[in-house]
Amino acid sequence: MRSIEHIYIDGQFVTPHGTESFDLHNPATGEVIGQVRLADEEDARAAIAAAKRAFPAFSQTNTEERIAILHRLRDAMAAHRNDLLEAVVEEYGAPASRAAFMVDHPINVFSEAADLLGEYPFVRRMGAAEVKMEPLGVAGLITPWNSNAGFICGKLATAIAAGSTAVIKPSEMSAIQTQIVTEALHAAGLPAGVFNIITGRGEVVGREISTHPDIAKISFTGSTAVGKSILRAAADTMKRVTLELGGKSPTLILDDADLTQAISLAVNAAFMNSGQACIAGTRLLAPFSRLAEIEALATAAVEQVKAGDPRDPATQVGPMVSRKQWERVQSYIRQGIEEGAALLAGGAGKPEGTTGWFVRPTLFTGVRNDMAIAREEIFGPVLSIIPYQDEEEAIAIANDTVYGLQAYVLSGDRDRARSVADRIVAGRVLINTLAHEPKAPFGGFKQSGIGREYGPFGLEAFLEPKSLLGV
Ligand code: NAD
Repeated sequence: MRSIEHIYIDGQFVTPHGTESFDLHNPATGEVIGQVRLADEEDARAAIAAAKRAFPAFSQTNTEERIAILHRLRDAMAAHRNDLLEAVVEEYGAPASRAAFMVDHPINVFSEAADLLGEYPFVRRMGAAEVKMEPLGVAGLITPWNSNAGFICGKLATAIAAGSTAVIKPSEMSAIQTQIVTEALHAAGLPAGVFNIITGRGEVVGREISTHPDIAKISFTGSTAVGKSILRAAADTMKRVTLELGGKSPTLILDDADLTQAISLAVNAAFMNSGQACIAGTRLLAPFSRLAEIEALATAAVEQVKAGDPRDPATQVGPMVSRKQWERVQSYIRQGIEEGAALLAGGAGKPEGTTGWFVRPTLFTGVRNDMAIAREEIFGPVLSIIPYQDEEEAIAIANDTVYGLQAYVLSGDRDRARSVADRIVAGRVLINTLAHEPKAPFGGFKQSGIGREYGPFGLEAFLEPKSLLGV
């Protein structure tokens, strides 16, 4: 049984003022594996004050100094890789292939930020003016549970690259992973207060960060509902806000696609991270002319997806993170059936032989885009086939959503796929690939968010331009 008793403020592990104890679970068994003592508003204020004290000196560091710091952070995370890997499997239930990404990504983000810093022009001439990009102040970084270390480190790497100090509020459900990340980052030996990590409830610590006048910027990843409340809360003090929110990404299979490849990619896009991914391709748009083939291939593929023990190397889909999340996914599966969608694979209940919060990988067909399973983010391994007549209709269905985070276009003709991709309203469109490009901006159109992360766009979200004339 793990007991996490400390938060990290001003370069030290300290006992929180908050006293609430929160149970931590192994989602593969449903068992309680530990407790975390949660921070409260007073802890949040102490962390913000520490970050504010650290800001004047840190914001004056030069690029070389910050590159060296980012390399130290990368090395420190790499030294804790094995501990983090174990925690990612135990506390989150990530299957092996996903778990490896979840521990390598938070290492790599520091090198990527260092590389970017080496080439980013902080000072530019624009006409008669010299334009200087300056760090905007203390950043509040609020992160979800579905890639805990990745979001903490990705946001922190960018804040550090910009010369900002940070207060980080991770999900309360990821406290064991956060403890390991905090120990790693502490070992990098940064000046006290540059980053502070306080695990607490969203409506307590997250709320304090979103309203506090000494927070200049919020970078939030999480649900669209919470993102909206953060945006409202931030308005009074005019905080700069980056929001990475939900998605309902379409996978458009065009009628010329090689279906064997396309279905394999589409199923991976849908079930990545056990379906708990904002970028999951959960709406599979299939041409009527090839619907029967697509249904047969997709059914076979989904039936083969192994959901179960994350420690079994054959497992592709691990458990849902919590009972609440499991119940939410179950209720969407029931709703899909009630609304008249046809079940091709999976369904309600747990896969045979499992006791934890496992969902049966589920495939629906005959889904209309106005059904709840096509409109709302399920955040579990549930894929819906939506038939379309022609390319125009496919594009219209793809764009008929309040979200706009990601889309996938699968076709045998690159030019045709490209012209379809150009018409999709989404922050990222992947053509015949599931690749990630860390230099490119990541984020959503419409209610998938505001702003972008990664690369120069991500860095600029932590900077303010200042024009100097007469110089
Ligand atoms: P969530 O919105 O409930 O919580 C995210 C974080 O916000 C947590 O740390 C939580 O404690 C905190 N929070 C909750 N209420 C708050 C409040 N009132 N003020 C401030 N902070 C508050 O989301 P979740 O359930 O942890 O994560 C799942 C959601 O995240 C999904 O909707 C998913 O699409 C989204 N997500 C988006 C991306 C992306 O990059 N676009 C990536 C991963 C997850």
